[in-house]
Amino acid sequence: MTGIEQGSQSGTETPKAPRGGNPTAPAGGRTVADAVTPDLVARLTRAVTAGPGAARAATRAPFTGEVLAELPQSTPADVAEAYRRARAAQRDWAALPVRRRAAVLLRFHDLLLRRQDEVLDVIQAETGKARVHAFEEVLAVAGAARHYGRAADGYLRDRRRGGAVPVLTHTVEARRPKGVIGQISPWNYPLELCAGDALPAFAAGNAVVNKPDTQTALTALRVRELLVEAGLPPEVWQIVIGDGPVVGPAVVDGADYVSFTGSTRTGREVAQRAAARLVGASLELGGKNALLVLADADLDRAAEGAVRACFSSAGQLCISIERLYVHRAVADAFLDRFTARVGAMRLGTRLAYGADMGSLVSRRQLETVTRHVDEAVRNGATVLTGGRARPDLGPLFYEPTVLDGVDDTMAVCTEETFGPVVSVYRCDTEEEAVERANATRYGLNSSVWTRDTRRGRAIAARLRTGTVNVNEAYAAAYGSSASPMGGMGDSGLGRRHGAEGILRFTEAQTIATQRLLPIAPSLGMDDERFAAFFTRSLRALKALRLK
Ligand code: NAD
Repeated sequence: MTGIEQGSQSGTETPKAPRGGNPTAPAGGRTVADAVTPDLVARLTRAVTAGPGAARAATRAPFTGEVLAELPQSTPADVAEAYRRARAAQRDWAALPVRRRAAVLLRFHDLLLRRQDEVLDVIQAETGKARVHAFEEVLAVAGAARHYGRAADGYLRDRRRGGAVPVLTHTVEARRPKGVIGQISPWNYPLELCAGDALPAFAAGNAVVNKPDTQTALTALRVRELLVEAGLPPEVWQIVIGDGPVVGPAVVDGADYVSFTGSTRTGREVAQRAAARLVGASLELGGKNALLVLADADLDRAAEGAVRACFSSAGQLCISIERLYVHRAVADAFLDRFTARVGAMRLGTRLAYGADMGSLVSRRQLETVTRHVDEAVRNGATVLTGGRARPDLGPLFYEPTVLDGVDDTMAVCTEETFGPVVSVYRCDTEEEAVERANATRYGLNSSVWTRDTRRGRAIAARLRTGTVNVNEAYAAAYGSSASPMGGMGDSGLGRRHGAEGILRFTEAQTIATQRLLPIAPSLGMDDERFAAFFTRSLRALKALRLK
């Protein structure tokens, strides 16, 4: 390991930065400024719906703290204009056959894979995550594009349903686009959480007005550019940028359906606002996810998986693991392996592969992480590894941290930290592990490690989370684009991925055509005969299992 931007968290391999050294500019390496040039910012921000004299807000690169871009801020009036444009464009888009729309997704899939390096640069510059974690976003979005590109036609096609009266009633269930989707996205997975949800909305014939987080708006704009290159009419995807509490409500107020990803607190506000308008919403919210290591687990695999589970994107991942429940019989052996791996993780700021973890995104995240760890330690918890900020690497770095001796009342056990911190709890039985894993108001993701996969699935059935991964951290379930993903309890409402992930963007419409006879007295029958005839018919239909 070389270079000032790479350091194991123990610090022993981290040379001090030379005076005047630029942590993002190792010899031959690209800097954040190389990746996000003024020309790129000017080109991308032309697509923001905002007036000519719009106020600007600066974003900073988490790796260095330097100003990254000055972004135009939309007003509520700009949001209304975005809806007007989106509505006008949506009609023609919806009129295209599903296959034509799906073909755009498939072309986008190829373009994204081909241009991934440019996209990865922008993600890293805006979020400060390690490149390998940025690549997870490419993987997820390519998976969603391919899945909906191939399967949208099947999900959306008309379906014959049993009619009111066999033979006489011909009934079809059809799917119509909602219209314009209001999509609000957070900063932590900016590619996946903008494009991943927008793709099925587009495939279903909708337009989207998207408000990404300001910090990661360039990623949203860059991926929109790729989708337009793949054939999406530009007006069908409107992007507005601005302060959440100012612009977010306007996005909800204009929408025919709301797709929100973010914190549980904001999700509640969004849900109430949508409900007041009788507009549906899917809410992908926070988590306090647990990983269970059973007594028969392969401990090397479990330790390696737990590192990914806890520290991907520096733990700023809704489905990452913040609580480890380990069978007491294997706890010491597991922790030896786990803490050794965590202690050896390489932290880095390069716009290149090689680091195991990057930076936190903001001062707010750093403060939450510091507060949770410090409070736990003050109340008797022990730091097994990590436990400090690393300003020598970058202003927002914090070491991957493992805590022992945490009790069930500490914030680090009950609240979402959303950072590189995990606490370990020893359990005597599987029942205890399941019960403690479920003892949270959240219910997003969980992970179970065992050599007996059948037993793993049986335990999964008892965990109250929307996804459960057996012998994997989160990527197995999240990457299964054909199967629903989302949260129970305070982790959300509705699902992305699979049939639910696209059908939420549609209205079901039943079209029933009555033939020959009405469903009413006819052919000279009076009401009484009609009732008697139908009573006999209903009994016969049940006996014959016809309806
Ligand atoms: P946040 O709720 O603060 O912000 C999310 C988005 O909502 C941002 O675009 C923000 O500008 C906007 N917003 C803020 N106030 C608003 C308001 N009053 N009305 C409408 N919009 C408003 O969340 P965050 O801190 O940016 O993101 C981290 C959170 O997101 C974590 O809790 C994480 O678990 C959650 N998350 C969940 C998933 C999931 O799939 N379940 C995925 C990623 C992140």
